[in-house]
Amino acid sequence: MRKKEEILYVVVPCYNEEEVLEETTKQLKAKMEKLVKDKVISDQSKVMYVNDGSKDKTWELIEKISKREKYFTGISLSRNRGHQNALLGGLMTAKNYADVVVSMDADLQDDIHAIDEMLKKYYDGCDIVYGVRSARKKDTFFKRVTAEGFYKFMRALGVDCVYNHADYRLTSKRVLEELEGFQEVNLFLRGMFPLVGFQSDIVYYERNERFAGESKYPLKKMLNFAWDGITSFSVKPLRFISGMGFFILMLSIFFAIYMIIRMCIGQSVYDWMIFVLSIFFMGGLQMICMGVVGEYIGKIYGEVKARPRYIISKNLLEDGKCD
Ligand code: UDP
Ligand code: MG
Repeated sequence: MRKKEEILYVVVPCYNEEEVLEETTKQLKAKMEKLVKDKVISDQSKVMYVNDGSKDKTWELIEKISKREKYFTGISLSRNRGHQNALLGGLMTAKNYADVVVSMDADLQDDIHAIDEMLKKYYDGCDIVYGVRSARKKDTFFKRVTAEGFYKFMRALGVDCVYNHADYRLTSKRVLEELEGFQEVNLFLRGMFPLVGFQSDIVYYERNERFAGESKYPLKKMLNFAWDGITSFSVKPLRFISGMGFFILMLSIFFAIYMIIRMCIGQSVYDWMIFVLSIFFMGGLQMICMGVVGEYIGKIYGEVKARPRYIISKNLLEDGKCD
C-alpha cells in the first residue's frame, strides 16, 4: 500500500489540437481539482501537454493555459516526431517531477473518469494500470475490425500486448525509470511496458468519439504503426520465411523426382508452361522474402544510428512560471 496524495502528472501529446485543447483543459481541470480536493493526489500535480511540432496555434494555447491554470504546464518538441516519440518525451520529462504518470490523448476519446480507478489500483500496489476499451461501438466498422485483427495477429506472433489497450495508462515513477533503459528508436510503447514488468492491472472504459478536429492517424500512419509493432517485437516473420523456403525446396525436390520417374517410364513430361509459371512464382516469392528481410535491416539501420528520439525545445516548468 502506498501513502496517498502523491504527485500525479497527466501527459497529453498534442499535434494540431487547437480545436480541442480548451475543452480538454476544462474537463481535466475539473478532474484535477476534484482529485486534489479528495486528497487522492498532491496539489503539486499537473497536466503536461506535449506539443509535437504543431503547425497551428497549439503551442501558443498551451502557454496561455499554463499561465492561467495552476494545474497545467507544457513542453514543446523541436519538430513533429509522431505520437509515440512525443509521448515518450512527455513521460521522460514528467517522471522528473512526478510520482505517478497517466498518459492520454488530447481528444478526450479516453474516458478521463477511469483515472480514479487507475489511481485506486496504483495505491493498492500496482505499478502499471492499462486502460482497456470495453467496447468499440463508437469506432467505425473498418477501424474496429482492423484494430482487433491487429491485436490478435500480434498475439499470434508471440508479442505480449494487452488486448484493446492503446496508450491510455498509468505508470509509476520506477516503471518510467526502467523504461529509460529501453533505448530503441522504433517505438511501440504499448508493447514495451509489458516487458518492463512489475505488478499490473487493467481498467475498462468506453471509448468516445473525437469531439472536434480530425484523427491525426490516417490509414497510412496506422499501417506504418502496425508494421512497426510487428517488426520491432517479433522475428517470427523471418522464421516464417525460412520455413516457407524449406517447404518449397522440399516440394520442388519431390516434383523433380516425380518428373524423372515419368521420364524413365516413358511418359510425356509437362508443358513448358509449368516452368514459366514456377519461375514467376519463385521470383515473386523471393522478392517478398527479400522485402521482409530488408525491413528488418532497415530497422537495424535506424537502431544503429541511435539518434535522439525527441528533442525538447521548451519546458514551461523550467521557465520559472511554476514552483
Ligand atoms: N499526435 C501527436 N503527433 C502526431 C500525431 C498525433 O502527438 O504526429 C497526438 C494527437 O494530438 C492525439 C494523439 O496523438 O492527442 C492521438 O491521435 P489521434 O486522436 O488523432 O488518433 P486516433 O485516436 O484517431 O487513433
Ligand atoms: Mg483520437
